[in-house]
Amino acid sequence: MIEMMVKRCNTQALLVLFPALIVVFSAGCSDKIVGNDANRNKPRNFEKNTTEVPKNIILLIGDGMGLTQITAGMYANGNKLNLERFPITGLMKTHSSSHLITDSGAGATAFSCGCKTYNGAIGVTKEKKTCETILEQAEKNGLATGLIATSSITHATPASFIAHVKSRADMEDIAKFFVQTELDFFVGGGLDYFNKRKTDQRDLYAELRSKGYWISDFQKQKLSEITPDPKQPFGWFSALGEPDSVSGGRDYLPIAARLATDFLKKRSEKGFFLMLEGSQIDWACHAKDGPRAVAEMLDFDAAIGEILRFAEADGNTLVIVTADHETGGMALEQGDGFDVLDLEFTTGHHTATMVPVFAYGPGAQHFGGIMDNTDIYWKMAHLWGFIEPSILEEQKAKDGKSKRN
Ligand code: MG
Ligand code: ZN
Repeated sequence: MIEMMVKRCNTQALLVLFPALIVVFSAGCSDKIVGNDANRNKPRNFEKNTTEVPKNIILLIGDGMGLTQITAGMYANGNKLNLERFPITGLMKTHSSSHLITDSGAGATAFSCGCKTYNGAIGVTKEKKTCETILEQAEKNGLATGLIATSSITHATPASFIAHVKSRADMEDIAKFFVQTELDFFVGGGLDYFNKRKTDQRDLYAELRSKGYWISDFQKQKLSEITPDPKQPFGWFSALGEPDSVSGGRDYLPIAARLATDFLKKRSEKGFFLMLEGSQIDWACHAKDGPRAVAEMLDFDAAIGEILRFAEADGNTLVIVTADHETGGMALEQGDGFDVLDLEFTTGHHTATMVPVFAYGPGAQHFGGIMDNTDIYWKMAHLWGFIEPSILEEQKAKDGKSKRN
């Protein structure tokens, strides 16, 4: 079993919060961000003066989804998106502990663990120590858990919720965590990291089966042909490596959203945590391919529609939608005619701009205003009462001294 060293962010950092962020802009200077926003453990804009606590939390991550990607998707879709149905919106800073511009590993680890870490990290702190994730905490508390991605399931974003490795490149190491974690539901690509491994002879596909999972993949049946049985944990692989783009025929994300919510609701009466990622908005923007980015955005929005349909009927589900970072520095310009979009890119990489946050359901009101990416974890954890009691006590004492936070 993994050693669970809960190196939660240093509570003492609260005392030295300012100056929180000094960015060095001069050419030739270090691009390091100095400051300790990284080590806060109390979310901004959070006053728990309500008894409204969500039973289920669904975190939806649009990888690379900035405001322009959203706007382009909305106009390309007849001026409407499911995202417009969210009553609460906020903005989020995305920098990592090592860079002004984050990667998806550090970005997702901020969401999963509440710690700023270095680019490339998966579920570890900047000191390379394992940090317990919200998914692991949910599991420990008897909730059901799920991960869905349109990348390989071992890719940086989903991996950061279940695995603890120093580098996102160690996909086969990441796959091992799927066998040692009691994850209830997963859908994504990357089958080869499980059963055609180069670093050892293990067949993790077979191991998951013998552990009691109902496991299948795209070679055997389509996800739309399956009704998962909540009596057994469920996994379906969508590709050997990375799944197709939606333009290339991939269609499983909205289906997975519907199946997962129905399944997880029945799986534990205590509630569930689900992370669902629209992984390829980012890839389309790295490729500076506007139409492909719009198609990925709309696929993600269709999944959001499925999630909202569930949450509205359920009434006890908090839905949060955000992005790990923007990709491409996308600009929306007027094409040839009022209804023609001209999408331009200023870079083939990620950017440091703030990204939006959307929230619906019990606890949603805490997700307005400007926050840090680590706040996503802390807000979820505070709502669910997952903070270690000792930290809560220290926190209470400090709250009396500090107005800020
Ligand atoms: Mg990703
Ligand atoms: Zn990227």
